[in-house]
Amino acid sequence: MIVAMQDAATEEQIQGVIERMVELGFNVHRTTGAAQTILAGVGKPDHFDVAEFKVLEGVHDAYRISSPYKLAGRSFRPEGTKITFPNGVVVGGEEVIVMAGPCSVESRGQILESAQAVAKAGGKFLRGGAFKPRSSPYSFQGMGIEGLKLMREVADETGLLVITEVMEISQIEPMLPYVDCFQIGARNMQNFNLLRELGHIRKPCLMKRGIAATIEEVLLSAEYILSGGNYDLMLCERGIRTYETATRNTMDISAIPVLKKLTHLPVLADPSHGVGIREFVPAMALASVAAGADGLLMEMHPNPEKAMSDGAQSMYPEQLEHLVAQLKQLAPVVGRSVK
Ligand code: PEP
Ligand code: MN
Repeated sequence: MIVAMQDAATEEQIQGVIERMVELGFNVHRTTGAAQTILAGVGKPDHFDVAEFKVLEGVHDAYRISSPYKLAGRSFRPEGTKITFPNGVVVGGEEVIVMAGPCSVESRGQILESAQAVAKAGGKFLRGGAFKPRSSPYSFQGMGIEGLKLMREVADETGLLVITEVMEISQIEPMLPYVDCFQIGARNMQNFNLLRELGHIRKPCLMKRGIAATIEEVLLSAEYILSGGNYDLMLCERGIRTYETATRNTMDISAIPVLKKLTHLPVLADPSHGVGIREFVPAMALASVAAGADGLLMEMHPNPEKAMSDGAQSMYPEQLEHLVAQLKQLAPVVGRSVK
């Protein structure tokens, strides 16, 4: 931490700041210039809040220089995290992984047709919500465990892995037999109790960015899961809320390279929720891979006009196929592949 004192700070104020830094466990290095005194705190105290220093008397400003996330930071695993799934699919390697499927599981026929289309297009994961976090309590809330059973069945038939959202702690245990990857939704990115519990299981998780979460908050949330010992975690940019109303959310493509630099965790992108409009999803998907995404999580429905949720942003099966063909051409430009 660096504390810059005000030009007019008194010796007493400077000593007060030094005392507090030492109390927290910092080794303090003092530089006194012509006007200003700078205090550099070296060391890694377990708990400190830079905001506390910003308001101490005589302080001009204080900056944190070490990252507050120890396990999620890139330096913890500079080579990057690779997550290997039971069928040998690896996320975080050279291959960009496609995950697709409907927003919600609606029926056996619908999820089977979806799985067939995803497999045909070259996708590796079948997505689909069985527990749905809907903005309105009157909207379709999902099929629950019955939906998961259907997903598991059709995914096994088509050779896909299952990724689906978990909304609360009590769902984890009953979901375990059916899922390959737990999805933590944007609305739950700061449900810290849920994150802690997911840290105690040994099954991969994908955590979406909250709609108003900063990148630092994403990484601190990731820390909750990692600190429980579950290192198989992927992060996912899915659009944030801004003043723009032309799209459902604003797809923050810049978050992808920034996250890739700051963390060793695989970074995925969900262009469907990112823009919310089917016609723009492929462009955002291509942009995400160009920006370094390790995979894509996308909505595709065999009959989007009839979808029970998010039909407007769900691609047609042919659109997904066409997109994957384009991704195969684009990926080598950035040193990746889509198989
Ligand atoms: C979803 O994937 O269908 C979903 C609800 O996503 P998010 O949590 O990003 O809104
Ligand atoms: Mn959705």
